[in-house]
Amino acid sequence: MKGAHHALCGAAAWVAVASTAPYTLGWYPVSPLGVVTGALVCAGAALAPDADHHDATIAHSLPPVSEWVCDAVGRLAGGHRNGTHSVLGVAVLTGIAWAAGQVTVATGALGDLALGAGALSLLLVAFAARALRLARRRLDAWALALALAGFITVAAPTEWDWLPVAVGLGAAVHVAGDMLTGGGVPLLWPWEPRPPRWWRATPLLNDLWSRGGNFAVPLLGTTGSRREQLLVTPLTAYAAYGVVAAVVVGSLTALGYDADRVMERVWDAAGALVGTATVVGTVALVAPLPG
Ligand SMILES: [Zn+2]
Repeated sequence: MKGAHHALCGAAAWVAVASTAPYTLGWYPVSPLGVVTGALVCAGAALAPDADHHDATIAHSLPPVSEWVCDAVGRLAGGHRNGTHSVLGVAVLTGIAWAAGQVTVATGALGDLALGAGALSLLLVAFAARALRLARRRLDAWALALALAGFITVAAPTEWDWLPVAVGLGAAVHVAGDMLTGGGVPLLWPWEPRPPRWWRATPLLNDLWSRGGNFAVPLLGTTGSRREQLLVTPLTAYAAYGVVAAVVVGSLTALGYDADRVMERVWDAAGALVGTATVVGTVALVAPLPG
């Protein structure tokens, strides 16, 4: 799967899990600020497994820090599409995010600052900004990531509680995305069991568990295929919807309105409008036109 598509899937997954707006799952509800920043962080985490080679787009997202990180990750994970594309890799990334969240610095005036969480998010947001082309120049990437990570670290340090969830979800979404396209992933790394000869000789089965020991469910065909585009387009709209809904609810609350009440009315009105349009449309189709 392409980098930008990984990022968009990550953002959509976060909206589904963390938002409580209509058409979301709301399994892990966070504040509107958490929905918006978490979507960017989860988008970045959905690129993180590809930090295993220094040529990856994300290696150039926050130079020179991102280049060092990608080099180190590649060496530790045994090269591209190896350790970071496995259950263990997702668990380790989640653990790193949890550990980063424990690094806080007590300051007099500003209280406890979540420096570890801020630094990790800085990197992840820069990944997302690069892949989604939110920042085209080097300095833009640094500026956007610093502004966001710095703002939360200072203004709302408790917002970082969700960081390990967003990172784990993003990394899992990446691995799932690569399983849906092309050659699959070594899900059980460092254990890489090879299929028996009869399995390799059976069409279809040899796609699911390949000669090299990779697992795949290649429903989307090759990377960047038309089917991949067809999946990502509605997911992009969904992620945008979730972020906009969070911004609206957050703004209403900040202005002193009962956001839930207002949104309920908006949805009622939208429902009534769709209902009326459906009835009118049906009548117009079924009823013979006078004259
Ligand atoms: Zn990958």
